[in-house]
Amino acid sequence: MHTKKFYITTPLYSVEDKPHMGHAYTTLAADVLARHLRSRDITVFLQTGTGEHGAGIERTARERGMQPKAWCDAAAADFRALWKTLNVRYDNFLRTTDAAHQAAVQAVFEKLLAAGDIYRGVQDGPYCTACGDFHDEDGLKDGKCPVHGKPLERAREAAYFFRLSKYGPALQEHYAQHPDFLSPRPGASELDYLARAGLRDVPVSRTKAPWGVPVKSDPDHAVHSRFEELLGYATGPGFTPEGAGPDFNSIWPADVHLAGKESHRSQGVLWPALLLALGLELPRRVYAHGWLTMNGRKISRTRGNYIKAEDVVRDYGVDALRYFLFREVAFGSDGEFSMTAFHRRYNFDLANDLGDLFSRVTSMAAQYLDHRLPKRPEDSAVFRELASWTPELHRNMESLRFGAALEKIWLGLGRLNGLLDARKPLELAKKDPEALKAFLREMIWGLRLIAGWLDPFMPDTASRMQLQLGIGKTRTDGAEPREVPPLFPRK
Ligand SMILES: [Zn+2]
Repeated sequence: MHTKKFYITTPLYSVEDKPHMGHAYTTLAADVLARHLRSRDITVFLQTGTGEHGAGIERTARERGMQPKAWCDAAAADFRALWKTLNVRYDNFLRTTDAAHQAAVQAVFEKLLAAGDIYRGVQDGPYCTACGDFHDEDGLKDGKCPVHGKPLERAREAAYFFRLSKYGPALQEHYAQHPDFLSPRPGASELDYLARAGLRDVPVSRTKAPWGVPVKSDPDHAVHSRFEELLGYATGPGFTPEGAGPDFNSIWPADVHLAGKESHRSQGVLWPALLLALGLELPRRVYAHGWLTMNGRKISRTRGNYIKAEDVVRDYGVDALRYFLFREVAFGSDGEFSMTAFHRRYNFDLANDLGDLFSRVTSMAAQYLDHRLPKRPEDSAVFRELASWTPELHRNMESLRFGAALEKIWLGLGRLNGLLDARKPLELAKKDPEALKAFLREMIWGLRLIAGWLDPFMPDTASRMQLQLGIGKTRTDGAEPREVPPLFPRK
């Protein structure tokens, strides 16, 4: 009997766009959840990666005078470098140009073709020459391309279709029996409505698209990149239709699929239908989060609407960015990224509430306590209160209510800061040294709890705190207390 790993995925990011804050947001959410689960001894499999096929990517590469594969190699390296900068720990980085993925996609296509779930037909509809692709009638913006804003042509081409229409009733039943499958709720009810209204079959191949995975039995066609990228969630942990290995069986099904809300339809409708067709278990949860916006518009490099995450990390440190993204914006909703708000939260929340409190307590502890970790102050009302919050914090983390978790942690910091003001420790030091020691024990244990709670969001800060709060473990007796640099120097 093996234990199933908790499988978290980010989308496979298209390398048409360079990595930006929007990608960072989704991937950091996956990392925060993964770190929380690992701290509770749950084995996690976190997959991220890049979607590298399609007409748009081929055009992007050619415009820069590069071969598509060379462009993809460089772009995938950019994504990996950003995850390193942001301190993201993943277990698998899937590229859709990986040979194993491509072979599995080809085999899936043939299997569904043989079963009649994929059939050959004709695609006829609005077509954007800039995208090099068809658009859905109801996805148009004023009758124009939603990406390029250009007028569309009418085009016809032979294409293979996935029989999505057949799966409407099964999807509705699944949504009804698994109310947590799609979240947050507003997006979910929209999908339920779609499934009730009847689903149309979707084209899953392109002709004249040399940059893609060729259909094995009909190599004039390439598997559509949208379809192929979805399959990456299964091929990454090792799925093949011929028989999946032990790794796959200990990972599947996905526990949390994270996606931007724009892909709610493909992740919430097409993907589960495809899994039903393959006889695979459906993911436990598809979570479509809101967008980060700047000046009210979705962050996107191609639209020139972005801040470089690397610049923010250089100026403020990686943990400040990790904190801000989940404190400022409720993860399910859209939220504005502004440097003014960032700067304010850095100074108020991190430098003041956390950093000042921490240095005041640790420097007094170095001066007035002996060098051993004090016993848990079971008689401390404030420590008992804080400790009683842990179950609620865990629930918030596991429901991806990261903002609510951080709010509670800052409430805890508020309690400790309040205590520090009320007890006037410098006066206590003169009048009642024993009372001062008892007070410092409360503060140290309170901060230890907080460091543990902060760890998924701010892993570096949490380990610096934990190192210093384990006083006595790392210091030799008689050594002078070291001057420790502040956690968050004021900016
Ligand atoms: Zn277009």
